[in-house]
Amino acid sequence: RLQQRIHGTTLEINLNALTHNYNFYKKLLSPKTKVMVMVKAFAYGGGAVEIANQIQTMGADYLGVAFSDEGVALRKQGIKLPIMVLNTMEESFELCSEFDLEPVVFSPEFFESLASWCTIHHRTMRIHLDIDTGMHRLGFERKQLDGLKELIQANPQLEIASVYTHLVGADEEIHQEFSLSQLKAFEKMKNDILQVITYKPLIHALNSAGIVAFPDFQFDMVRLGIGLYGVEVTGKHALALRPISTLKTTISQIKTLEPGETIGYSRKGILISGGKIATLALGYADGYDRRFSNGKGYVLINGKKAPVIGNVCMDMCMVDVSGMDVKAGDEAIVYGEKISLKELADQIGTIPYELLTNISTRVKRIYY
Ligand code: PLP
Repeated sequence: RLQQRIHGTTLEINLNALTHNYNFYKKLLSPKTKVMVMVKAFAYGGGAVEIANQIQTMGADYLGVAFSDEGVALRKQGIKLPIMVLNTMEESFELCSEFDLEPVVFSPEFFESLASWCTIHHRTMRIHLDIDTGMHRLGFERKQLDGLKELIQANPQLEIASVYTHLVGADEEIHQEFSLSQLKAFEKMKNDILQVITYKPLIHALNSAGIVAFPDFQFDMVRLGIGLYGVEVTGKHALALRPISTLKTTISQIKTLEPGETIGYSRKGILISGGKIATLALGYADGYDRRFSNGKGYVLINGKKAPVIGNVCMDMCMVDVSGMDVKAGDEAIVYGEKISLKELADQIGTIPYELLTNISTRVKRIYY
């Protein structure tokens, strides 16, 4: 509460809800399926160290980050779980080695370059192989598998910790068939690769939506992201999850406007018959998307909807509170239990992932 008084806007993270969501997914999984929790992008905005600490205590098996510096930050705060790095730059091989981070290897060139770095520096490294079954983002394609097998055999300094693929649309009805074909292709491709490996790398493919949609393809591990943070993207278990974050802001000032007076930059907001507006301590620099301007977004004040009026400014925005009993200092809920991220994201043509990860670091996170 004090933080909110100081800065105006806070992101409250409910660690009990996080535990609840984790346990929900654990129940959908076979007891022997391991869980990698994706804590990339500041744990989807929730704070990587705090979330990692919590899930480390809860018994998760692996962490996933996008870049090596995200992994270094976790190690520096004492996180001990194995960490997979999706997109390692060559310049950070040393960091990976020093901080015990495990790079994803996605191309023959990358494999060779990491293998020769390890040889030159007399190091071994645990790596993860990304197999491209249709995402066409990163990863080895089918035609590259023979070459990959030769590289694996020739470079024992790189231990294959896991082999995985990523689905393009497990959350979308129209892409179920394609996702299933990816899983089937992956099954064959990983079997081919495993022929040249004498030990047992972990095999994984499913993200949050995949866990719900394709329970038969859990393999050894799943990679849990958005579901842990309380958004059930398939809609099949929407009520089973609890949102973990509540974005709250504060009313700085109330103004009464005459009929026809305009509001904010470029005079985009107008109260035709006059009324009352509240200025909130929340702007696009906090991660409140400018596309919420003029009626696309709303907040809850004392349980009532107040629509955004005018353009969202950098550090503030205005909402229409005509007819409402509100005063400066009152709290406004931007999203949380009562405003779904999915609904908000739909309003501006984006996805909950973007709303969550956009909350800027100047917004204080409060854990309870
Ligand atoms: N695996 C990979 C490779 C990813 O890039 C992501 C997130 O984008 C995930 C798993 C987690 O996905 P989700 O948040 O949909 O569970």
